[in-house]
Amino acid sequence: MKGFEAVKGQINAVCDRLNIDDACRLRLEKCERELTVNFPVRMDDGKVKIFTGFRIQHNTTRGPAKGGTRYHPDVTLDETKALAVWMTLKTAVVNIPYGGAKGAVICNPKLMSQGELERLTRRYASEILILIGPERDIPAPDVGTNPQIMAWIMDTYSMNRGYSVLGVVTGKPVEIGGSRGRLGATGRGCMLSAKLAANHLSMNLNGTTVAVQGFGNVGSNAAELLAREGCQVIAISDSKGGIYSPKGLDVEGVSRHKRETGSVVGFKDTETITSTELLGLKCDMLVPAALENQLVKANAADIKARIIIEGANGPTTPEADNILHDNGVFVVPDVLANAGGVIVSYFEWVQGLQSFFWSEEEVDRQLQTVMDNAFNEVLEISQREKADMRTAAYMLAVGRVARAMALRGIFP
Ligand code: NAD
Repeated sequence: MKGFEAVKGQINAVCDRLNIDDACRLRLEKCERELTVNFPVRMDDGKVKIFTGFRIQHNTTRGPAKGGTRYHPDVTLDETKALAVWMTLKTAVVNIPYGGAKGAVICNPKLMSQGELERLTRRYASEILILIGPERDIPAPDVGTNPQIMAWIMDTYSMNRGYSVLGVVTGKPVEIGGSRGRLGATGRGCMLSAKLAANHLSMNLNGTTVAVQGFGNVGSNAAELLAREGCQVIAISDSKGGIYSPKGLDVEGVSRHKRETGSVVGFKDTETITSTELLGLKCDMLVPAALENQLVKANAADIKARIIIEGANGPTTPEADNILHDNGVFVVPDVLANAGGVIVSYFEWVQGLQSFFWSEEEVDRQLQTVMDNAFNEVLEISQREKADMRTAAYMLAVGRVARAMALRGIFP
């Protein structure tokens, strides 16, 4: 099972375990708001193309909806809904005062000019203007989007209001109210999770071999920070293929190579492998940081890593999860492992609302505190309830959302 149905199944199983009442369960099974927009964009050749986009708010009980914006040719409404649910769970696991949302546009940003991307982004932002705002729903970057795209959303919203509104998006450039440390925050959170997991398993990060699938914002930052902690990153992949070197890769060199050539493939002194081969490599730690549904029933038994740090959202299907659990693989689930991004997004929102900006050291320090607390809370539940880390994280999150729902009651 995949997508929204799969995550609904996981939530239901946790609701059973926690004896959650039907009112709460029924609310969690649906998204509060689902907006689909079809809008025109004039392309550089003068022709008009119609694009389809979504903005989904899954739940806003604990605060404004929060979640990234994906630009990808294969993104669907179902996938966007699943991603919105994970955001509700993620913000609750790390205990920041937000609900969960996600947005997407079906497009291929790699094949569009900057002008086309700007026109698409401004029109999409205008279409979803009825839902977003600093107290309502706050977009951020995800696959295929970046700080520049956040700047255009912020500007479009601000032009409609008549004044600058910093808090409407996070992941903005620092020059216009972004937070120091936001760009690398998700990767930093992965590194911190890896450290905590290794410590729990009495492993030392120094010399730990790591394979990283996906080398975008999350994968590249995670790989660089893990290498700085002494890990030996032996394999990296992106959408064009993968590279492997048993002696370890110069991660910053790989980043430069990708910037110059568009892919990690072809980096000096490496063997070319497929992204699927990367997952089955002999290594201590695996960081899937690309897209959903990469670890599935068919390949889960081939995983040799002792620890999986889910940099991506939903990289493991429920069937694969069971196999990994039976094989003793320690999985730090997405809603915890990649929460660094939304945590620093929260710091960015707070800084924007107060117009008072923190140093990078302060951001990193506060991120570490939130990650440490969340990891330890999830681990404690996992040990007490004899549950894997994902089930424990879901129990913590669903419990928090359910308590908030009970306290607020049902309007009217
Ligand atoms: P990105 O667009 O910056 O990078 C995605 C990377 O994955 C690219 O290197 C791409 O080439 C690669 N990729 C795509 N398909 C692949 C495949 N089949 N095999 C190997 N590599 C492949 O996106 P990102 O922001 O790094 O997001 C990656 C994942 O992390 C997504 O699941 C996203 O939802 C999740 N995430 C991102 C953030 C964030 O702050 N950006 C926060 C939390 C979670």
